[in-house]
Amino acid sequence: MGYETKMLIGGKMVNGEGAGLAVENPATEETVATVGSASAAQLDMAVEAARVASREWAAMPGVDRTPLLKGVATALRERAEELAAIMTTEIGRPLTESADEVEWCAACFDYYAEVARSEIGRVIPPIESTQFAVVVKEPHGVVGCIVPWNFPLLLLCWKLAPALAAGNTAVCKPSELTPLSTLALADVFAELPAGTVNLVAGAGETGAAISNHSGIDCVAFTGSVGTGRKVGVACASRNARVNLEMGGKDPFIVCSDIGPEGIEVAARGGAWAAFLNAGQVCTSSERFYVMEDVYDDYVAAFVAHTKSLIVGDPLDPVTDVGPMVSAVQRGKALAQVEAAVEAGAELLVGGGNAGMERGHYLEPCVLTGVPEDSDLMTEETFGPVAPIVPVRSLDEAIEKANSLDFGLGANIYTRDLRTAIRCLKEVRAGSVWINDPLTDNDAGPFGGFKNSGIGRELGTEGLDAFREAKHVHMDSVIEVKDWWYPYG
Ligand code: NAD
Repeated sequence: MGYETKMLIGGKMVNGEGAGLAVENPATEETVATVGSASAAQLDMAVEAARVASREWAAMPGVDRTPLLKGVATALRERAEELAAIMTTEIGRPLTESADEVEWCAACFDYYAEVARSEIGRVIPPIESTQFAVVVKEPHGVVGCIVPWNFPLLLLCWKLAPALAAGNTAVCKPSELTPLSTLALADVFAELPAGTVNLVAGAGETGAAISNHSGIDCVAFTGSVGTGRKVGVACASRNARVNLEMGGKDPFIVCSDIGPEGIEVAARGGAWAAFLNAGQVCTSSERFYVMEDVYDDYVAAFVAHTKSLIVGDPLDPVTDVGPMVSAVQRGKALAQVEAAVEAGAELLVGGGNAGMERGHYLEPCVLTGVPEDSDLMTEETFGPVAPIVPVRSLDEAIEKANSLDFGLGANIYTRDLRTAIRCLKEVRAGSVWINDPLTDNDAGPFGGFKNSGIGRELGTEGLDAFREAKHVHMDSVIEVKDWWYPYG
């Protein structure tokens, strides 16, 4: 399979003149392509192209942007198979999951294509009857999108679709581990005016150059807490707008009221929430708090289901869990598991490489007895690992759920309305999922409390992240106001 390795700048395909990025297939450990990074001069060109394009794009009525954004959705669907295959090659995740991601990208463009023509502000009550007052929402200008490797296209579209809908143009940088799927998008944007979307490749240095670039008005970032903090500082130092989506350590609470059938469902839902994309989801469930009267049954059901999962070649349609993205990520997750076992935890299943000769495979792990202060319970794991802990009460579960400096997502299984309402009010997380783990909705905001983020993507909140509010106050009469001078 040939891969697009050229960048898109000002409507033209160009080779990156900076350092080469070798892209590895995590299932085979082979280098499938090498992509040149953007040089400093090429990044400047991309920003300039976006700046020039922004004059036309920002002035275009929303109703005219709508068909163009719908066209992007259509083009994504037309190329779904190819884009899914590229993502599976770069990330190692099962093809089914990659295909789902392309569809979610298209759905996000469809959603914002409609939102783009629905409103650009609101009318507010004036101070006096002769007056008229409105709030007008305007684009920032040029948006820099910095994206991680775990959902390379979706996390780009969650930024790009609302940014474009709001009238911004963009310079987008994928992760150095997964540039191929993003560079393959050039054709998808072919109907947009040249320079509206620019795609550049590069590693952290290019990301830092985007955050610090005086021609970029707003940076939308998804990635780790450490990098996000650097992006935030760079933007604050020049008062650029910024939206940060960062890491998590999501809790998953299981209540005893769900009964035996519910336990089976919550075990399967929990395994999916922990092992989807080999646990490399920002909202992966990484801490399970289970009421003690159903704890043994839950652990047994979870382990049995985990043992039934097929770990292997991500291109094989029966595969449930593919390899992790890199040796580094696998090493980090396994080190947390090994440290927990060293400290007294019991590894009930998983931890091997599924008998594969090559590839960064890590069989999904289920652990009990993990010390509360271990990294496995307090730091992001970002791997297929589920530590399960018994709790005596809902109070204890909520207290433990809220005990860390993360607050991205949280899951609860309960049939009790009082428990559901308590959790949705008291759990400090940007998304609270009750009886349906990890389901996002284009119309609902996504983001984190505490260290997990600043700002929101998706929904109208996600559109406002890319708009500046302007208050316009008009008076129909020209007269001297009685609150002016003189006071006496
Ligand atoms: P990362 O922070 O290492 O990299 C993210 C992006 O930032 C990459 O494109 C990288 O090249 C770039 N970058 C690196 N250094 C930079 C710098 N100094 N300035 C600007 N950009 C820089 O993250 P990752 O390993 O690619 O992704 C995994 C992390 O992303 C996890 O922590 C995960 O929780 C988080 N994540 C969060 C969400 C969310 O929506 N909250 C979604 C997915 C992933």
